Amino acid sequence: MTQQQYDFDLFTIGGGSGGVRASRFAAQYGARVALAEKQYLGGTCVNVGCIPKKLLSYSAHYHDDLRDAAGFGWDIGDTRFDWKKLIANKDEEITRLNGIYGDLLSSAGVTTFDGHATIEDAHTVRVNGQRITARYILIATGGRPTLPGVPGEEFGIVSDDFFHMKELPDHAVVAGGGYIAVELAAILNGLGTKVTLVHRGSQLLRGMDADLGKFLAEEMRKKGIDVRCGTKFRSIQLKDDGTRQVHFENGETLDVNTVVFATGRHANTENMGLEQVGVKLTPTGGVEVDADFRTSIPSIFAVGDVINRIALTPVALAEGMVVASALFDNGSRKISYENIPTAVFSHPNVATVGITEEAARAKYGQIKVFKSDFKALKHTISGSKERVLMKLIVDEASDRVLGVHMIGPDAGEIIQGFAIALQSGATKTHFDMTIGIHPTIAEEFVTMRTPILQTV
Ligand code: NDP
Repeated sequence: MTQQQYDFDLFTIGGGSGGVRASRFAAQYGARVALAEKQYLGGTCVNVGCIPKKLLSYSAHYHDDLRDAAGFGWDIGDTRFDWKKLIANKDEEITRLNGIYGDLLSSAGVTTFDGHATIEDAHTVRVNGQRITARYILIATGGRPTLPGVPGEEFGIVSDDFFHMKELPDHAVVAGGGYIAVELAAILNGLGTKVTLVHRGSQLLRGMDADLGKFLAEEMRKKGIDVRCGTKFRSIQLKDDGTRQVHFENGETLDVNTVVFATGRHANTENMGLEQVGVKLTPTGGVEVDADFRTSIPSIFAVGDVINRIALTPVALAEGMVVASALFDNGSRKISYENIPTAVFSHPNVATVGITEEAARAKYGQIKVFKSDFKALKHTISGSKERVLMKLIVDEASDRVLGVHMIGPDAGEIIQGFAIALQSGATKTHFDMTIGIHPTIAEEFVTMRTPILQTV
């Protein structure tokens, strides 16, 4: 078939961040594009991820703000929190965003199908009973929460359900020690739920610099969260009154209203015909792609959470643009997986760019570590015991800054700028030459002078 014999130049399966971005860009480059989405436009990020999470996190932060206000002379009086109102306002905003995603696609000239698409062969998809041919197919079906395989886990909920809970629970167990677990635990705690965070590992945020996980656990405990590391579930039982009785392997039990499983996510690869067509999967269950996001079938591509590389919205957006540019433009768009900044919207926030102390030591040998742990100016009179952690990892030989890590207010806002510095190859000397903005928390990153630890 020649190009014009296909119904479309690109057929995208999945209307989340990666799929929508690739489709819009492809259409803007002149391609004839269609996209199928079976649930909601915007995918995880817009509907049950980044956006509702951040809105709820803002709400939870008011807890600290209201409490801290007294030290600044404010007598706030009695306060009440209305979960239903928050969820209704959040839903209204999400509906608005769904509409914006639809408008973006239609104004770019992308044809959308509201339905589940399956791949029939290298150039054919079926959606709503209709066979559609395309020169290229893009799989951007994202991922979904993984349950841990504990007896009685059906009595728990996952992040998708969290954002639609009818009531705010009085007491919740949050299971897991990764991004979602610490973010949802912080939201619940801020909104007034008694929270027990149960993590099987010895420290939170595995994969990040070890100091971050340790420091965050302490900060979360200070805010009243019962953080239990090294604790495993045995089972969950549903009592007659709706209480969930959680049994742990150490013999302890807890009666709670809600159990939230935040025990990882996996790629959405089922019921799409991938096996029949011969699209290979990786050992961890993601769609296998090469450096150009091409699957084992040359006309089929995949981006975003479904490839199981780095499950972050901005990464999916970048991958989508790379594919669109490679297929329909001059291929000038590239993605670098080096120095991808990321933030965890726990309370306090965590943000990081570059590599951990451990990874730097293994790769570079001789490194310098600068670390600062302090109380921010605001909390000198707020009464809060919250502290800030900042850490720089520097290669001794080249003076290059290899990692910038932080726990503290608006850490993501601060680290975004440092990501540009690292991407530009900044050295510790550049940091030292930079004038601080006073009085800020961020200025500490340009005033750290004495390494705390030197390799031998
Ligand atoms: P993570 O991989 O971050 O964390 C999963 C957690 O679940 C880990 O602590 C893991 O423990 C634990 N776990 C896994 N299996 C089991 C089990 N069987 N029993 C008990 N505990 C278990 O996944 P998340 O689901 O939190 O987030 C997925 C991804 O989504 C993140 O990696 C991130 O890329 C993205 N994300 C980004 C956000 C942001 O940018 N702010 C927010 C939310 C998600 P262990 O450490 O021992 O393996």
